[in-house]
Amino acid sequence: MGTLPILRAGRGLNLLPAKKSFQELGGKVAAFCKSHPLALFYSCLIILSVLVYQYARHTVTFYVDGEELFTAHTFCRTVEEIIEEKGIQLHPRDRVIPERGSLLTQHSRIDVQKAFEVIVVDGNKLSFIITPTKPVRELLAEEGFELGPQDRIEPEGLEEAYDGALIEIIRVQKHYVSNRSAVLYDEIVKKNPQLDRGLSRVIREGRPGLQEELIEVTTENGVEVKREVVSSLLLEKPLDKIVEYGDNTTLEREGRVMEFDRVLTMTATSYCPGTPGSGCPLDHNGHAFCTGRYNNGYTYTGKKAVQGLGTLSSPRMVAVDPRVIPLGSLLYIEPIPGIGKIGFARAEDIGGAIKGNRIDLLYDYHSDVAKFGLKRGVKVYILKKI
Ligand SMILES: [Zn+2]
Repeated sequence: MGTLPILRAGRGLNLLPAKKSFQELGGKVAAFCKSHPLALFYSCLIILSVLVYQYARHTVTFYVDGEELFTAHTFCRTVEEIIEEKGIQLHPRDRVIPERGSLLTQHSRIDVQKAFEVIVVDGNKLSFIITPTKPVRELLAEEGFELGPQDRIEPEGLEEAYDGALIEIIRVQKHYVSNRSAVLYDEIVKKNPQLDRGLSRVIREGRPGLQEELIEVTTENGVEVKREVVSSLLLEKPLDKIVEYGDNTTLEREGRVMEFDRVLTMTATSYCPGTPGSGCPLDHNGHAFCTGRYNNGYTYTGKKAVQGLGTLSSPRMVAVDPRVIPLGSLLYIEPIPGIGKIGFARAEDIGGAIKGNRIDLLYDYHSDVAKFGLKRGVKVYILKKI
């Protein structure tokens, strides 16, 4: 009770004139309401209606695929109701955000993502899919396509699907196989100054090595597309082949030291000039057995076809393949077993059958040709100019 005097004192000082006037106004309103009860009822009704109206009225903005379709004021309660009210036709697979059953708020935004059709090819399986989801990987996941870590999507780099898109899933798998294979050996070449140029000999035969390779095999939709060696283990080292090539170009025969270009190991045959005096058999056309119709007694180079002595001043005449021994070359032919010494010779002739490593020795008489036969392994030096 101790505060009352202060309040009284305050009232006495008229410190709250507004409160006093409110009180007065309240009193007046109360008096009015008492005398006019219907007015009070309607006033309350109007206030209540305004409040209900404000509460029930929603402003809704509708978007389709990110583009504003309309903004409307509505008393609909849910998303579903406004879709029906506005007669918006949607495909069952169109996506509505928020969901159709959601309650509207005073300012609502409704987004519709329109469904579209895509074709998904997964291996041999073709699926026609209607979906509102554009991100490709999300779309595939929603439709139950599980992608392995290696699997690819084609077209490459396609992030967003579109109506009519063809999306291919490439199933990529890797497996490993091991394979043993030979390792090739190298050929080591050595020069031997003791061996005549043109000759060679194998000092050591080569032997391939053995390796085991781990191969990664990549398949796409079951078809092998790549095979790559990922590691290799050498099980056996290859043994290199060693070959010696002759480097000697000096020949000493019959008291002469000569330089030669190279030595050839040839197959030798013989022939006679085919002239009447040679005793060479003729056929019914008059063609000689040894020289055919070229039996005029001269060589291809225009020299008189004579056997020669095998000396430097009177070399033997031989027919050669000019691609192997140039015509006019001076040769030294080593003795032939069963025949004997041959000696110096000059390439003066050619022959239809004399191709490659063949040499044809001219004899004056066919009887010598008949005895000569065919000799292999005849060493022929191509001499440098003496
Ligand atoms: Zn003959």
